Amino acid sequence: MSGLAERLAEVRARMAAACARVGRAPESVTLVAVSKLKPGALIREAYAAGQRDFGENYAQELRDKAVELADLEGLRWHAIGPLQTNKVKYVAKVAHAYHALERLEVAQELSRRRLDAPLPCQVEVNVGGEASKSGLSPEALGPFLDAVRALPGLRVEGLMSLPPPTEDEAVARGYFRTLRELARKHGLPGLSMGTTHDFELAIEEGATLVRVGTALFGERG
Ligand SMILES: *Cc1c(COP(=O)(O)O)cnc(C)c1O
Repeated sequence: MSGLAERLAEVRARMAAACARVGRAPESVTLVAVSKLKPGALIREAYAAGQRDFGENYAQELRDKAVELADLEGLRWHAIGPLQTNKVKYVAKVAHAYHALERLEVAQELSRRRLDAPLPCQVEVNVGGEASKSGLSPEALGPFLDAVRALPGLRVEGLMSLPPPTEDEAVARGYFRTLRELARKHGLPGLSMGTTHDFELAIEEGATLVRVGTALFGERG
């Protein structure tokens, strides 16, 4: 045993406390356990402790783990990393959701492969300006949403962001609020934001999905 069940319980308790501070129901936030670069055995352990949503960044790793863990009924894979068009097929085949949509070409290819079961997506936005590397600018978001909402194999549910790390709580809240305001402006209910470093702040600012890796699985290599 690795202590994973205890860490899961602790993260869930911290999530519930953050919800309570702002009068939200604990069920309004989904914990996505980010298992990238961690072995399947740890995912099994988390699953045994009741965790069902897992996040992976790399398409081939997701493909391989989905095969290795195919016996875990009800497990939901969230693809959370950038995608190259030629790797879309791995994600389209097994993903319950995609959190990092930011390229029309990828959206079109995902849609083409999910006509039978539209894929829930979060569109990635760069709310950190120059300090963030990925995501659409807030200005580019409207036209992009118009384009992807027309695709039959996708269901755009919300926005996602991975703001640059900061120790300044006000700055972190500012990033999350910007994302929340953009989602509201565009009529989207979902907000995928918050990692190990800042998931409680993200929940206080409205996150519906938090993506937590290190606090559950430990440091990555
Ligand atoms: C790795 C990763 C996470 C998890 O980060 P931790 O700091 O380990 O909690 C969340 N979101 C994305 C997009 C990631 O790449």
